[in-house]
Amino acid sequence: MILRPVLGDQCSHALASLADLDPARDVVLMVEVMRECTYVPHHPQKIALILSAMRHFAAELRGRGVRVEYVALDDPANTHSFRGEVRRAAERLRPAGIVCTHPGEFRVLEDMQGWEEATALPVEIREDTRFLCDLQSFRRWAGDKKQLRMEFFYREMRRKTGLLMEGDQPVGAKWNFDAENRSALPAEVLPPPPMRFVPDATTQEVFALVRKHFPHHFGTLDAFNWPVTADEARAALRDFVERRLERFGDFQDAMAEGQATLFHALLSTSMNCGLLLPREICEAAEGAWRAGRAPLNAVEGFVRQILGWREYVRGLYWLRMPRYRELNALEARRALPEFYWEPNSGMRCMDAAVTQTRDTAYAHHIQRLMVTGNFALLAGIHPDQVNAWYLVVYADAYEWVELPNVHGMAIHADGGIMASKPYAASGAYINRMSDHCRKCAFDVKASVGERACPFNHLYWDFIARHAARFANNPRMAMPLATLRKMDPGKLAAMRAQSAAFLDRVAPEVPA
Ligand SMILES: Cc1cc2nc3c(=O)[nH]c(=O)nc-3n(C[C@H](O)[C@H](O)[C@H](O)COP(=O)(O)OP(=O)(O)OC[C@H]3O[C@@H](n4cnc5c(N)ncnc54)[C@H](O)[C@@H]3O)c2cc1C
Ligand code: SF4
Repeated sequence: MILRPVLGDQCSHALASLADLDPARDVVLMVEVMRECTYVPHHPQKIALILSAMRHFAAELRGRGVRVEYVALDDPANTHSFRGEVRRAAERLRPAGIVCTHPGEFRVLEDMQGWEEATALPVEIREDTRFLCDLQSFRRWAGDKKQLRMEFFYREMRRKTGLLMEGDQPVGAKWNFDAENRSALPAEVLPPPPMRFVPDATTQEVFALVRKHFPHHFGTLDAFNWPVTADEARAALRDFVERRLERFGDFQDAMAEGQATLFHALLSTSMNCGLLLPREICEAAEGAWRAGRAPLNAVEGFVRQILGWREYVRGLYWLRMPRYRELNALEARRALPEFYWEPNSGMRCMDAAVTQTRDTAYAHHIQRLMVTGNFALLAGIHPDQVNAWYLVVYADAYEWVELPNVHGMAIHADGGIMASKPYAASGAYINRMSDHCRKCAFDVKASVGERACPFNHLYWDFIARHAARFANNPRMAMPLATLRKMDPGKLAAMRAQSAAFLDRVAPEVPA
């Protein structure tokens, strides 16, 4: 008998460790571990999503005749650690060995690597084949390159998978259609609302458990609307392909008041916990293009997010951990402002992103990158605090995907391993891509004075603070040239306002 532990983000029948499962002989072990719910105080919707997906997945396995040992959160015998539960199951069931799938987080891999010693049984850790690029191939691609540009990795992946290819050429004769994907949302365009999922009895049970155990975690359960089974996730995929994919490209970077989801897919939560495979999503999108139901700029832009960015950040995470997490290239030292938890900054863009995050455990990419991420970058918030926030607040957050996106892309803490320049922007960018500024108490055109948009003085303070560091970066030439031409009095006033503002909202963390 082989014991096959399945983790909360591995709710997939395609799991490598289940490939040779013999229902007549083997046992699947699933455990709800308190430590996993609290190592950071995750958003209640994330905990509910994972526990509900696990319970549904266990029921599906049982429906297929598989024996599942399921240890619930409230089980009095639960030791609340993976290692403790694997050891307990091994003592109870006396398997000949353990077969599992590579986990998504470094700390869990460390735990898994101790299972052999804890149980005195052979433990086989299999590659997570749900991803389209295995870790060895990524390592090979990375080689000794100084900079690991996603765009080149993505092209390799297109060639390797054949997605959106005509022979060895990209369809449409271009690899990337991003230049067509930068529109703000016109008032007359109304994105279709996301599909609704009614919580069933299992999910309701989980809600009660989450309310009982985690009442003080940031966020609410009321608006929970995540697929919790593979069937629901496939319905969400169909809904996206039929109703939103067509315009995904055009408005990928837009933000709009009252429009939390725009034309985004809302599929990261399902993919990240195993309910959908990245390949089936990419194929569904490609199929829509080949059938003439979605334009290439939308489909290529969408496939790039999954085949490119998602695979790339995972490869980078495993290539660079554990040291990656320690990097703080911009020597950021300030504390995360309180308004990341209480949306009361008065900055309309910021408060909208935090309110939405609290209520739905979701914000789309541009809100994460160019509002909350951009603020943290400009303000010089310590990477540990920024990472902890992002890991807590989103229903799709797991360290393998959260860390590179935050550390590398949003706050440039990795010094440029991932992004060739920091994604720093003033209020003008937010104004161009959203309608927030029109209703904001701050004036997006002002850089100093009581009503000055904080993103403006923070931006110029950031550029001035790091001018020497970016002096030789051609992609920073424009802002640095503008800085040099700036009236020194104006710059000094902006920097003084920035310092006073930051000392009030984000004091330095003691070293
Ligand atoms: C600071 C920051 C933190 C982030 N943290 C997470 C996180 O914890 N978990 C997470 O899954 N994504 C994260 N992302 C990436 C991205 O914002 C989310 O994947 C996306 O918003 C999820 O919503 P969606 O499914 O509607 O995505 P869409 O905009 O519809 O995109 C489609 C899919 O592409 C994938 N994708 C897009 N961009 C990325 C990316 N940069 N990295 C990895 N996958 C991507 C996702 O799987 C997503 O479902 C983060 C991005 C930033 C800038
Ligand atoms: S004015 Fe500044 S703070 Fe207000 S919404 Fe615009 S960018 Fe955000």
